[in-house]
Amino acid sequence: MFNFLISKQVKKFSFAGGVHPEENKHFTENSPIEKLPLPKLVYLPLLQHTGKQAKPLLNIGDKVKTGQIIGEADGKISANIHSSISGKVKDLKELPHPLIFGRVLTYVIESDGEDIWDENIKREFVKKEFDSDEIIEKVFKAGIVGLGGAAFPTAVKLSPPKEKVIDTLIINGCECEPYLTNDYRLMIEKPKEIILGALLLKKALEKNNKNIRLIFGIEDNKEKAIGIFDSYKKDYNFEVYTLKTKYPQGAEKQLIKAILKREVPSGGLPFDVGVVVQNVGTAYACYEACYFDKPLFERVITVSGNGIKEKKNLLVRIGTQIKDIVEYCGGYVGEIKKVIMGGPIMGVAIYSEDMPIVKGTTGILFFNEKEVILEKERDCIRCGRCVEVCPMGLLPTELHKFIKRREFDKARDYSLLDCIECGSCAFICPARIKLVQSFKFGKQEIIKKERK
Ligand code: SF4
Ligand code: SF4
Repeated sequence: MFNFLISKQVKKFSFAGGVHPEENKHFTENSPIEKLPLPKLVYLPLLQHTGKQAKPLLNIGDKVKTGQIIGEADGKISANIHSSISGKVKDLKELPHPLIFGRVLTYVIESDGEDIWDENIKREFVKKEFDSDEIIEKVFKAGIVGLGGAAFPTAVKLSPPKEKVIDTLIINGCECEPYLTNDYRLMIEKPKEIILGALLLKKALEKNNKNIRLIFGIEDNKEKAIGIFDSYKKDYNFEVYTLKTKYPQGAEKQLIKAILKREVPSGGLPFDVGVVVQNVGTAYACYEACYFDKPLFERVITVSGNGIKEKKNLLVRIGTQIKDIVEYCGGYVGEIKKVIMGGPIMGVAIYSEDMPIVKGTTGILFFNEKEVILEKERDCIRCGRCVEVCPMGLLPTELHKFIKRREFDKARDYSLLDCIECGSCAFICPARIKLVQSFKFGKQEIIKKERK
């Protein structure tokens, strides 16, 4: 039996700053992952990752199979895109993107109702050894990106510069955003698969580095998951760290600080302190890519919030429209005031039910009048709460002041570029100042200036 109770003596790790929003995970934490029925139509943007848009490979009218490549990675930082259903290419045009401001070239694929999988995808698990290059190649081919929301191409993350010595791989099972339980459900329903995926990621990194430590970092509000992973750690030689439940515990820099007490330098990356961080969902996708040659064409998301009748964790085909999910979940409750793709703090507001699920979608939250209090922004009262909670040790109130005055150089000198856009400052601000929007704008202006 798994030991689901964490003893009080277990050391819990954390970082300075952060906030404690209401968790609201009770809505879906006990809901097993359900498979959403096949959509009739999918919308597949050729940019679902950090980096360059993929190059289209098919023409309108072409037939396509589930898992067939339709967009080819273009350049060093990019990712392949695959069809998530079988059928016919109905259109290829620029359409609004759910997470990126502006329009992106998007395939519209109409289902034939058959779900015919690409013949290269294996249906049975066969235990096999892979070398580092094979793993990186399979992960690249499968179009895997970070599934925690960042959508950075995983194959790139598995190929750090040779001069960087990597000694630790952290598998991020924090899922610190309120409402979301998709990672949690995956951890308790597919732990062995996640572990095998994590071992593949470790092997890939051992191409240039030896004896990498494998650590699972899980927040203490997920006792059942901690118990399960603890029960496997001796057999598979990894460590489990219990982290205090606090937002943004799952942010890479905060996770590294909490577990290893290492500080990623200003402007630096986890590579710079010998660490690679991957999400549990990404580890699962790597398991499927290596053992089954299965591309990333479906993922688990959480559907929650008081505005949706049936709150669920769903396995959905990428490209499924939000309206199909609403229908499956029994429709709306009350008047919908806000729809968010992702978590409530870092997620993006969505304005149309036609928008598709993309690789980086962790959840869809429907908020009605019970959850959305539309408060007007007021003047800063200089209470200093934003400074207390900033996990990056920044001065949000000063940064906002500089940006408002368009003094972008000063904002830069005050380390605006180190802001991880976690939203802790905006969450705590009694004046309801839209600090994150301000910082995003300020960063864009600095980057624009530097490119000139
Ligand atoms: S929390 Fe809001 S009101 Fe308080 S100092 Fe920061 S910006 Fe000003
Ligand atoms: S300034 Fe940036 S890093 Fe600091 S709390 Fe605000 S959003 Fe998070």
